[in-house]
Amino acid sequence: MTSPLLPTFARAELSFEKGEGPWLYGRDGERYLDFGAGIAVNALGHAHPHLVQALTEQASKIWHSSNLFQIPEGERLAQRLVDNTFADFVFFTNSGAEANEAAIKMARRYHHVNGNPERFHIVTFEGAFHGRTLGTIAAGGQAKYLEGFGPKVQGFDQVPPEDMEALKAVIGPQTAALMIEPIQGEGGVRSVSPAFLRELRALCDQNGLLLIFDEIQTGVGRTGKLFAYEWSGVTPDIMTVAKGIGGGFPLGACLATAEAGKGLTLGTHGTTFGGNPLAMAVGNAVLDVILEPAFLEGVERKGLLLKQRLAELKDRHPSVIAEVRGQGLMMGLRTVVPNTDFVNAARAQKLIVIGAGDNVVRLLPPLIITEADLGEAIDRLDAACAAIEAEQKNTAQPGAVQ
Ligand SMILES: *Cc1c(COP(=O)(O)O)cnc(C)c1O
Repeated sequence: MTSPLLPTFARAELSFEKGEGPWLYGRDGERYLDFGAGIAVNALGHAHPHLVQALTEQASKIWHSSNLFQIPEGERLAQRLVDNTFADFVFFTNSGAEANEAAIKMARRYHHVNGNPERFHIVTFEGAFHGRTLGTIAAGGQAKYLEGFGPKVQGFDQVPPEDMEALKAVIGPQTAALMIEPIQGEGGVRSVSPAFLRELRALCDQNGLLLIFDEIQTGVGRTGKLFAYEWSGVTPDIMTVAKGIGGGFPLGACLATAEAGKGLTLGTHGTTFGGNPLAMAVGNAVLDVILEPAFLEGVERKGLLLKQRLAELKDRHPSVIAEVRGQGLMMGLRTVVPNTDFVNAARAQKLIVIGAGDNVVRLLPPLIITEADLGEAIDRLDAACAAIEAEQKNTAQPGAVQ
């Protein structure tokens, strides 16, 4: 099928006409269980009544007024983020990459206003994903995303995760900050140990560096805490948020302590759309639900259940699944077969899952998923594994011993 869209995505031959909770209704007439949630975006599933109400009520009042005026809904959302995190200030954006751009600019300006403009390097970690702008592809450091786009934006140094020696070797008088995902998402649901995060904090404190956590995928309840950093007991100086915070409406945020944010003074940064009243109404509605007492405990409990059921699945299908990873409702299966084969086999069972690096398949159900629907997903994954095993038998050499 030819399409006027630039062919930058390998799109499945499938589109959806509506969604309800964790269910998607395809234009093929089928109903799919959504364990992708639009890549960890639809935190409250599809067509959540509270979000629909917030969006439509705001839509009939005012959509956009620009940041030249006060936006009370934004003041409120920022205050709630501040009250529930380490942060003192929030800058709203429309996407994750823009939130990271704000974080990078903030870290550089911090040292600039401290009289150290030579400190503009940010250390990032192999396997990272921070977005697709020129700055964030340099931060992510992945050759496949950098190739052909001209000189890489200067000032990003990369080391392997958990490698303290390499990290210490790369830190110098030019270093401004360290930037890390507490669990790498696109990189393959690769967790960083709480001990390593604590070491990063200590290293930053010793060297006057800022610690930036990219919680664009791990944040807003995904791991069973409002933000994944809470598991480590370590707080960053700057944190970026997007995906789940808008529940499907484009919204991102860069959060910071007053100290870390002190360089972004009047006129130094901006956005036309960021923090507009529509986005702010939806963001507040997402928080209304996620901050309800016991909501996050429920995510944690369901995450543990899912992890246990996935471990059983792996034991039943060792020729398909090599490893179970992740935390809360951010789980990964490293597969023996190509992960794309697994994604397709799951889709044949009407279950949507998402590929990631390191041959991993991500399971990112909406946080409102019920235990019954988790069980339904396990049944479908079981069937997908069985189909792959049947295929493996068929393609085995004739006469080969199974
Ligand atoms: C998705 C993602 C981004 C980029 O967000 P966009 O909204 O696509 O720009 C950055 N960092 C992480 C960890 C992500 O998962």
